[in-house]
Formats: sequence, structure tokens, C-alpha cells
Amino acid sequence: MTTVHSPCTRGPLISAEGLNGVGKTYLTNRAIDRIPVPDRPLMLDEFSERRHGRQGLGEDLLHALREASAGDPFLRSGTPMAETLLLLAIKRHDLDTVLDYLTSGRAVVEGRSVDTTAVCQSLLLHPDDSDAALVTAQNLLALAAGYRPLPDLTILVTDDADQAVVRAQHRDQRVFTPEQVAFMGRACTLFERLAATDPGRYRVVDRRLVDELEAADLIATWIRTARANLSCLREPLLGVQAPCLCCTQSVAPISAL
Ligand SMILES: [Zn+2]
Repeated sequence: MTTVHSPCTRGPLISAEGLNGVGKTYLTNRAIDRIPVPDRPLMLDEFSERRHGRQGLGEDLLHALREASAGDPFLRSGTPMAETLLLLAIKRHDLDTVLDYLTSGRAVVEGRSVDTTAVCQSLLLHPDDSDAALVTAQNLLALAAGYRPLPDLTILVTDDADQAVVRAQHRDQRVFTPEQVAFMGRACTLFERLAATDPGRYRVVDRRLVDELEAADLIATWIRTARANLSCLREPLLGVQAPCLCCTQSVAPISAL
């Protein structure tokens, strides 16, 4: 017995990742502005931009993390695995809120997704071992994939960590502590190493190599082409036979020839 199914009619789920201050939201918005309205993706704000107006379970969970971390810009409260599960719950909630858009065929761009959780939390679990952090980041992505499908495409915007620190400090009108600067440096390296483990899902914009115009062009092209040959989006806990969360297509078994 083998199986066959058609490409899904849904829109692609895309994430934009990278350090605070690397310019991912700015560049992604510039890219989205180049895409005509009928095909223009929905942009889902990243955590740090959700301070006003939004309500719901995801925001309540984020509020709990903010309270527990007492102003830490990376939402660290000293219990990395518990934080991980809450962050994954938020990202699951985010997916639930955009399923209708995906079902309608619209692309959705998440500002940060499960890769940020994997990178930051694995660094907390392995503060002195970058190789172990990489392995744990991959394991955390596998854990995340058990709760929600991973993005079809992840765009990593990267740069010298020092440049990102300067931009983030200017934008947020704050001065990071030396420990926070060091954490961002380690996160920068781990994002790049993690991206290299999955070239099928990741596309990398390196701001040391391209200017803003080129970066926005690249991102717009990747967003446009992400909708080719999408597979169905299935509830991970229900297995491969589960109907698609968007088009409701089930895997159609056919007899072996
Ligand atoms: Zn489908």
C-alpha cells in the first residue's frame, strides 16, 4: 500500500527570525509592501511588539512570562523548560489564530516562531557549551513539531551581533547589560548554526553581504515562491492520516501498482 495526495490549497506559513535589532521586522515589512494586495501576506507581530491592544490566551501567557521575567528583554525567569513550554503554547495559539487565513490561501508571516524559542532556551540550558546548545535546539524544534507544524519557510536575518545590539538599544531606548550583550552574541551564532542544519526550510539574509534593497528583494521573492507545492498541514498529535487543518484533505490510500 502506498499513498498519494495533491498539493494543498492553503497559503504558506513563513517565519522571520533573528536577533533583536537585526532588522527582521523592518526588512520583512519592506518586502511585504512589494507584494500586491491580493497576495500580500498577513504579518503576525513578534512578542516584543505586542504591548497594546491584543487580547486572548496567547497574550495572557505572554503577560505571565513578562511578569515572571521582571523586565528581562529575553523573557528569562530562571526556569528554561517551563518557559519553553509556555512559549510553544503561545506559538500554538498563534497558529490557531491564523488557520482561517491559511485556509483562504493567504500567506502568513510570523514575526518569530519556534526557532527563537529553540535558540534562546537551549542557550539557557547550556550556558557554557555551544555544541550541546545546538543539539538541544534541534531537539526543541522536534518537540515543537509535536505541538504544531513548523513553518514551511524560515527567513533568518543575521548581521554582526554588535550592530544588532546598537540598533536594538537605539530603538528600545535602553542599554543592555554586558551579560545581555553576550547572550545576544551567542544567540546570533546559534541562529546561524541552526539554519545551516536545515537548508530546506531556512533562507538566510546576511546584512554584512547585502544592502537593505537587496535584502527586501530577496525576502519578497522567497515569500512569493513559498506557496509552490505545499503539503497539507496536519495536527501532529493525530498522525499522518489526520485530515488537513486547512483543506480537510485526507491522505488518500491507493493500492500498490
Ligand atoms: Zn491541505
